[in-house]
Amino acid sequence: MHFLPKKQGLKGVVQTLTQFLGWSVLNTDTYDKMNKLENRKDIAQEMLMHHLKCTPQELQSILKTNEKLNKNVDDCEQKEMMKILKEELPDPAALELYEFHFSDLPVSEHELIKSGIRLFVELNALDKFKVPAEVMTKWMYTVRKGYRDITYHNWRHGFNVGQTMFTLLMTGKLKKYYSDLEAFAMVAAAFCHDIDHRGTNNLYQMKSAAPLAKLHGSSILERHHLEFSKTLLEDESLNIFQNLNKRQFENVIHLFEVAIIATDLALYFKKRTMFQKIVDAAEQMKSEEEVIKYIITDQTKKEIIMAMMMTGCDLSAITKPWEVQSKVALMVANEFWEQGDLERTVLQQQPIVRLQSSYVIP
Ligand SMILES: [Zn+2]
Repeated sequence: MHFLPKKQGLKGVVQTLTQFLGWSVLNTDTYDKMNKLENRKDIAQEMLMHHLKCTPQELQSILKTNEKLNKNVDDCEQKEMMKILKEELPDPAALELYEFHFSDLPVSEHELIKSGIRLFVELNALDKFKVPAEVMTKWMYTVRKGYRDITYHNWRHGFNVGQTMFTLLMTGKLKKYYSDLEAFAMVAAAFCHDIDHRGTNNLYQMKSAAPLAKLHGSSILERHHLEFSKTLLEDESLNIFQNLNKRQFENVIHLFEVAIIATDLALYFKKRTMFQKIVDAAEQMKSEEEVIKYIITDQTKKEIIMAMMMTGCDLSAITKPWEVQSKVALMVANEFWEQGDLERTVLQQQPIVRLQSSYVIP
């Protein structure tokens, strides 16, 4: 014990030793508790995934290997599964999937799952990035199940944002600024961008001291949608990016982060200034080639445009024909009023906007 001052003597040694042993016991105890917490979290996650994931029956409702080939998915070859999957997907022209005025209202929620897969086929993502047919189907189905059946931020909204992203890229001709992999990631992120939304906004999470607000300091819900999306991809049977190399996969996850966090409207104005600078500079250029070169050589510019596209997609309902947008506007208002009811009943606060769900828009 040469590190102890000599004058401390035996008493000092005993004191220090006791302290040291006390800390050791406390550390072991804390470590033990942390381990238990970690195990509890893993079990909760395992239970959640069990109920969330697309079941074999649900998979067969789209990828009909039993009905068409009399075989289970595991006994099929990729080629034959891809063939029967493509047969089952809706015709993009019939549903107007390439159109900005597309409306989900006449389409069933199950048909929207198939339509989502159709968009990836149209992007040629399945063939190019070797996405197994059953993984694509399970992922898309599970994303649908990840959305809660609430008034506005439900699967229909998630699908619409994915479809608008696809349309901006293909019909809006913004694809020229992005690689095939980036376009694949952007549409996938758009589908996931509000997964597990609770129908209440970030301010409500803070006011109700929701665990989500304690976990994330800012962009509370957006960070949750992102974490949820990443959790799905951690499961190999749902990982549509499983055949990418490490660098490509990391790039996809980075794009998910930028795209999903960008849907927090609190970040919009900062983004808008940066976006305007790019637009102003591009307007001075003489040729389209010059603009493309100006954008694609700078990853930051590409990400600012992508972030702006996400906001555009998220709010695209207001660009739809009146019959569609008027219905959606009511859903947005109704969900907001429902939050007002919660503020009154759960938080015992007067909502900022004095409305309640029993009020009716004329
Ligand atoms: Zn949204």
